[in-house]
Amino acid sequence: MARSIPFVTEPEVRYGTVAEMAPGLRRIVANNPGKFTYRGTGTYIVGRGRVAILDPGPDDTEHVDALLAAVKGERVEAILVTHTHRDHSPASRALAEATAAPVYGFGPHPVADTGNAPLAEPGDEESGPHPLGGTGDAKSDDAKIEERGDLEFIPDSTVVHGDVIEGPGWSFQCLHTPGHISNHIAYRWREMAGVFTGDHIMGWSTTIIPPPDGNMSDYMASLRLLADSPGDRFYWPTHGPPVTEPYPLVEALYDHRLERERQILECLATGPATITEMVRTMYADVAPELHEPASRSVLAHLIAMTADGRVTTGGQPTSKAVYCLP
Ligand SMILES: [Zn+2]
Repeated sequence: MARSIPFVTEPEVRYGTVAEMAPGLRRIVANNPGKFTYRGTGTYIVGRGRVAILDPGPDDTEHVDALLAAVKGERVEAILVTHTHRDHSPASRALAEATAAPVYGFGPHPVADTGNAPLAEPGDEESGPHPLGGTGDAKSDDAKIEERGDLEFIPDSTVVHGDVIEGPGWSFQCLHTPGHISNHIAYRWREMAGVFTGDHIMGWSTTIIPPPDGNMSDYMASLRLLADSPGDRFYWPTHGPPVTEPYPLVEALYDHRLERERQILECLATGPATITEMVRTMYADVAPELHEPASRSVLAHLIAMTADGRVTTGGQPTSKAVYCLP
């Protein structure tokens, strides 16, 4: 059995107020708590006087007003977006209009992300602490909305892996981290040796990998990218508290996915099976209402395992296919 994941929790937050997270780092949390957003979107302000704003958040006037009030008298030099889910990027437009700062991101929302199609509806795994109810209300409409795409997003400046964005007292190394979504960028704040991990790594829960744009092989490679880069002292996810011991977390998240793959192979060793059958075995200790979201995670694994030949199926790896060992 893989080691347990060292999740971190944040019992409460105060919406719309500025919290000092570290020297030169402020955070304001938007009032959009939910199944996928935990307490809400944490928007970061980096620097003093001439600042960068990371993950502006949802299209929410109160949140934008709180951000603008927080940086009153300062100059916003850059607006950085980790990815194009609606709880991360939409407020970039109002912020850019108010501050004239350029918006940075990997690119528009991916075409392959069919946000409303049954295959790609956001699912979640069982493994987070689910402090917001704990009943696995994975189908709440709010949650679906938050993880849908921001189809209007167009960055002023597109970034690729390795790019550096610099300002006074801060510089960010762009880390392309696909998996949760193909256009995900994490930003390493080099002066503080910390990474803004967006939704790629969250401390409070595993992230969702919704096929077809969500890609398990990419996700696991993106986990290794961070796990194998030494020297990071913090992760600052967009949802949830800072992670002060990043390496045990990222290794445990990686092991967790390896363990799921091992379980899939174990299931198939007893004969061909559908995802529904595998989930019944693999998630036997998990409430039945979480089996449906879990099945999407298993599908993401099976797409990756079919592609690399560890698993085979008659046709395409879909939610209804029968899988077997080659
Ligand atoms: Zn997201």
